[in-house]
Amino acid sequence: MAEVLVYVDHVDGAVRKPTLELLTLARRIGEPVAVALGAGAAATAGALAEHGAVKVLTHEAAEYADYLVVPKVDALQAAYDAVSPAAVLVPSSAEGKEIAARLALRIGSGVITDAVDLEAGDEGPVATQSAFAASFTTKTRVAKGTPVITVKPNSAPVEAAPAAGSVEALDVTFSAQATGTKVTARTPRESTGRPELTEAAIVVSGGRGVNGSENFGLIESLADSLGAAVGASRAAVDAGWYPHTNQVGQTGKSVSPQLYIANGISGAIQHRAGMQTSKTIVAVNKDAEAPIFDLVDYGVVGDLFDVVPQLTEEINSRKG
Ligand SMILES: Cc1cc2nc3c(=O)[nH]c(=O)nc-3n(C[C@H](O)[C@H](O)[C@H](O)COP(=O)(O)OP(=O)(O)OC[C@H]3O[C@@H](n4cnc5c(N)ncnc54)[C@H](O)[C@@H]3O)c2cc1C
Repeated sequence: MAEVLVYVDHVDGAVRKPTLELLTLARRIGEPVAVALGAGAAATAGALAEHGAVKVLTHEAAEYADYLVVPKVDALQAAYDAVSPAAVLVPSSAEGKEIAARLALRIGSGVITDAVDLEAGDEGPVATQSAFAASFTTKTRVAKGTPVITVKPNSAPVEAAPAAGSVEALDVTFSAQATGTKVTARTPRESTGRPELTEAAIVVSGGRGVNGSENFGLIESLADSLGAAVGASRAAVDAGWYPHTNQVGQTGKSVSPQLYIANGISGAIQHRAGMQTSKTIVAVNKDAEAPIFDLVDYGVVGDLFDVVPQLTEEINSRKG
């Protein structure tokens, strides 16, 4: 069976959920071979084997943390040369997309970004993408070279599928460009205790209708009742009511959770571009004509200051 390279996103050996989702998709098109780099790379092997990796190629070097993406591209290319895979899968983060694009250019392949599904096809893997702010769903196949595909978080379930997961050291020689851009400082973001926005299974967002930073506590309380991440429209972020890191949309983050709850958000195309692939969409808006209602599964026409606290209370009461 053809091998499929899966680029591993991990933090000090803790594998992040989007990588486990990639393993589910990789098993549909071949045998997953994982590539884990940097500090803690070897510690990823257990989780990767548990979810279907037949092999885990590891390489630990300071360059992965000290420089931007090129060392990672060098390593992924080394894995590509060693394995000659049928496809390369990378999580669709900003970094993942840059790594994928650079690798595809180097190996002369086509690249597909932001796939939301993947299946085997007669002429290679077929990716599902959501185009033009999700007005269209497209099926896409790479027509040249080995497909390099980035996949959005929450596009596939995490499935246990125990495999050998044998660890092999990857032989990497860094290119001259690898040390071109050095990381000079790192400031960890203060943890909110909530899940990462792009990976969360549930996202609760607030827009201009929230009407002030002091009212975002309502959105946070609803999010916390569901174990959700908090998102915001650009209008809310530009007004300074919530951090830019939480902006959802074309110029913010792209999310695709199981459940997206939009509160006081009109549904402008630029906002939709970042959330329209969510599985179930709920909106609370006092204007029955708001465009967001065109795409919702459930809509509440009402004042969010009435609806959101009641919803939060009801959810909390049902949790017993
Ligand atoms: C190049 C470009 C990029 C952009 N990128 C993004 C992006 O990434 N993300 C993004 O979000 N936007 C983006 N925008 C901005 C976008 O066009 C909209 O302006 C923005 O999404 C509007 O935010 P909003 O829905 O919160 O505000 P509004 O459009 O003002 O809508 C507020 C909504 O709240 C409702 N409301 C008001 N009070 C209440 C209440 N008490 N209870 C219930 N409902 C209430 C109103 O009925 C209204 O529908 C971009 C624009 C451009 C030009």
